[in-house]
Amino acid sequence: MTSSNSQARQQQKFKVVLLGEGCVGKSSLVLRYCNNKFNENHEQTVQSSFCSKRLNINNQRVLLEIWDTAGQERYHALAPMYYRESHGAVLVYDVTDMDSFDRVQLWVKELRKVLGKEVVLVIAGNKIDLEKEKCVTEEAALEYAETVSASHHYTSAKLNKGIDELFLDLTKSMLDAAQSNSATSRPNRGINITSTPNETQSEQKRGCCGGK
Ligand code: GDP
Ligand code: MG
Repeated sequence: MTSSNSQARQQQKFKVVLLGEGCVGKSSLVLRYCNNKFNENHEQTVQSSFCSKRLNINNQRVLLEIWDTAGQERYHALAPMYYRESHGAVLVYDVTDMDSFDRVQLWVKELRKVLGKEVVLVIAGNKIDLEKEKCVTEEAALEYAETVSASHHYTSAKLNKGIDELFLDLTKSMLDAAQSNSATSRPNRGINITSTPNETQSEQKRGCCGGK
């Protein structure tokens, strides 16, 4: 290796948040992506948790710090503390629940207002294994995603479908955004990472979703 490669090998850290209505599958997506596990039973995270995931894209090492909601979907006023300084956000809806799709649209408005255009947005239509009960049409979802400059992915935390692709797409877009930002000398929004890889932290569970 020559010294000219050393820059490319520097690790890039990104903070990613998951947002969306309760019970759409945010915690399940994080659990599947970081630990390759899925919980059938109705549980809901009530304390904030995150996991770390390392990727290597074209010789660029990336550390994703992925934050799962701590029920901020219910205590909306707390949300800015949670998504502050995010480089990317995954807006999750349940394909069988139209209200959850409407809720994504509110989150997008809020994120764009507070974080501006810099934050990379990906919309996840989760529970695609329940295709037969799908009520949010693909046409409406894709059309909406385009209008807010977000990409759209179908996922199933249950069947482990579309999740790697979603995070890869998100990470590539965050790398692109970081490159264009460094051209304008934006100050580094450093993140202190203390977790070990793929470790989900501080999770407490309680009954979901009927017990919200
Ligand atoms: P959160 O409140 O958004 O974090 O949602 P959870 O991850 O706690 O999931 C809520 C419920 O949906 C749980 O019962 C999960 O087992 C279920 N769930 C999550 N993802 C999927 C999925 O892809 N398919 C199906 N069929 N159920 C899912
Ligand atoms: Mg949760």
